[in-house]
Amino acid sequence: MNKRIAQVIVGLPVEGPFDYSVGKSLRDRIAVGQRVRMVFNRRPSIGVVVRFQKNSPFKPLNPVLSILDDYPSLDEKALKLTRAFGRYYGCSWGEAAQTWLPTALRKAKELQWTPCGEDKAEAPLGKKVILLHDKSPDKRWPFILETIRKVWEAKRRVIFLVPEASLIESVLQRLKEVSCPVIVLDKKMRSSRELEQWIKVKEGRATVVVGTRSAVFAPVSSLGLIVIYEEEHAAYKQEQSPHYRAQTIAQMRSQSEGCSLLYVSSAPSAETWHKAKKERWTKITYEPDRLSEMQPVDMTNYNPQRTSILSFPLQSAIQETLTAQGKVVLFMNRKGFSTQTRCPQCGWTLKCPRCDVNLTYLYVSKRMVCRHCSFKTELPGFCPHCPGSYLRSSGTGIEKLESEAARLYPHARISRYDRQTAEFPREADVVIATQAVLKGQGAFPVDLMAVVNFDAELHHMDFRSAQKAFALLVHLRQFAVRKLLVQTRMIDNYCLRAVLKGDFDGFYRKELKFRQELGFPPYKHLAAVGLRGSDEERVFEQAKDLYARLEKRKPQGIDVLDPHPDVNPKLRDKYRFTILLKGLSVKDILAYATPVIKDFKRRHSTLITLNVDP
Ligand SMILES: [Zn+2]
Ligand SMILES: [Zn+2]
Repeated sequence: MNKRIAQVIVGLPVEGPFDYSVGKSLRDRIAVGQRVRMVFNRRPSIGVVVRFQKNSPFKPLNPVLSILDDYPSLDEKALKLTRAFGRYYGCSWGEAAQTWLPTALRKAKELQWTPCGEDKAEAPLGKKVILLHDKSPDKRWPFILETIRKVWEAKRRVIFLVPEASLIESVLQRLKEVSCPVIVLDKKMRSSRELEQWIKVKEGRATVVVGTRSAVFAPVSSLGLIVIYEEEHAAYKQEQSPHYRAQTIAQMRSQSEGCSLLYVSSAPSAETWHKAKKERWTKITYEPDRLSEMQPVDMTNYNPQRTSILSFPLQSAIQETLTAQGKVVLFMNRKGFSTQTRCPQCGWTLKCPRCDVNLTYLYVSKRMVCRHCSFKTELPGFCPHCPGSYLRSSGTGIEKLESEAARLYPHARISRYDRQTAEFPREADVVIATQAVLKGQGAFPVDLMAVVNFDAELHHMDFRSAQKAFALLVHLRQFAVRKLLVQTRMIDNYCLRAVLKGDFDGFYRKELKFRQELGFPPYKHLAAVGLRGSDEERVFEQAKDLYARLEKRKPQGIDVLDPHPDVNPKLRDKYRFTILLKGLSVKDILAYATPVIKDFKRRHSTLITLNVDP
C-alpha cells in the first residue's frame, strides 16, 4: 500500500481527519490505528492514523514526526466504532478515540505490547439480548455464571459492567465459581495501573473484564457477551463531555462484533423495559420466595414543626423492632443537620456564593457546606443585615434525624451511614442512612426499613424521577427482611402503589404512557444544549438568541423548548441554561442543530455543551 500520506484524527473538537506526509523511514512501520506524534495548529500533538492516501489537495503538508505504538492502539473495529460514537454523540472522531483509550495514552507515552494472534473462536454464539428481571436479587447469579461459562467454552470473551467500583469486589467473588481469568479495568485507577490492565486485556489474557462504565471500551477481541449489571443505574451515563451512555456503546459493539447482551436489574429503566418488549428480547423473571411487608403512612395531617418527623406508626414499628432485638434503618437522602439557615427578622438566607443554593449545616464539623461544590464557611452568630438577630435553622438532614432518634430511643445504639462513612455500622440498632446504604444490600440483614420522606425523592426536575423513586422502593423492599415503611403525603402515588402491589407491568404501562404523552424517551430522543457563563443576564440573552436561531431553522418533527435554567441554575460561579431539542432520532436532531450551534459558537464566547440522550 502507498503510505505517503496519512490521515490523522486529533482529540480536539475539530472533525478532521487531517493529511500528513509520511517520511520514507517511517513508511514500513506506520499502520492504521497507531498513535503518532505531529504538529497540529502549530502545537505538538498526538493523533491516530485512520487511513492512507495517495494524494492530498493540501500543500505543503506537515510530516508525521514519530510513531508511538509498535502495534495499533485501536484496531479496525474500534476505529469504526469510535467514528459511530462521534457521530451519535456529536463530538469529533478524534475526541471519541480519546475517550476510547486509557487516560495514559493521551500523552506521548510509547506503547509496547504483544499481539495475541486472533483467537480461534468457534462460530458466533448467535446474538441474543436478554433482560434478567430479578425481583429477588439472590436468584440471578446461577444464570449469569452459566451464561458466562458457555461464552468461555465457545472461546469467546466477556465484558462485565457494574455501575459503581464498590460492586467490583463482590462480582469477582462470584466469578471465582467459573474460575476463568478475570481482569479489572476502571478509569478511577491510577493511570499507569489502568494502562497495565488495558495492555493485559489487549494481549488476550482475560476471559472476563470487570469494570465500571468506561470498561465498555475494553479492547477485548472475540467478544461474546456484555453484561450490564443494575442496568437502570444513572452512573452508566457520563456526566462530562462526551456524555455517552454505556448501554448505547454496548449496543453498538453488539451490532458490530456480534456479541450478546445481558441486562440485569430488579427495576429496569422504562426505556429498557420498552425496548425489551418492542424488540422481543428474551425476558427472564425470577419471583421472590417471599416479599417483606410494606406499610405506607399518610403524613397529610402531620405537622413536622410541632411533632416529630417520625410518625406515630413509625415510632411504634421502631419500638417493636428494637424490643425484638432487630435492626432498623431510617432512610433519608439529605446530608447534614439542617438544610436551611435564615434570619427570622429580614428573611436573609445563608447561601453558597458560587451555586446560589441553601447551605447545609454539618453538626459534626460545626460548618456550613454547599452540597454542590466544596464551599465551606463558619456559621455566623448573627444576621449580617440586622445585628443582634439570631439565625434560625430548619429542614431535616440525617444528623438531625439522628439526634431525634437518640431522643426517642435513649437506650438504642444509634449510628449514621453515608457516602463518607467507611463501613456500615453493623453493631448499631438504628442506622440513619442515605442512598449509600443500597450498596450493602445482601451483606447484612435489616428488619425494618423506613423511608422518612418519600416525597423528597419525587420532587426533582427530571422526567426519570418517578422511575428512580420506583426503583428505590423496589430495592429497599428487597433489603428489608420484615417490613418497609414509607412516610408520604402522596399516598396514591403510582410508584408507591405499584411497589405495594408488586405490579411491575402496571408501573411500566403507566410510566410509559406518561412518557409518550409528554414526548419523552423512549418515544422521543432528547439533546440538551447547555449554555454556561459567569454573567447571568448575558448567558440568558445568548440562550434566547440561540433558541431563536434553532427555532427558525428547525425541520418538521423536531421540537425546540424555550431556554430554561438548569436543575442547578448556578454552579461553581457559572449560570446555566438549557435548550432542549426533541425528535424521533438523534441523527435528525444533530444533522440540523450541529451547524446552527457551530455557527453560533463562532460568534460568541459562552461555553456551549451538547448532551445527547441526557
Ligand atoms: Zn436579618
Ligand atoms: Zn456551591
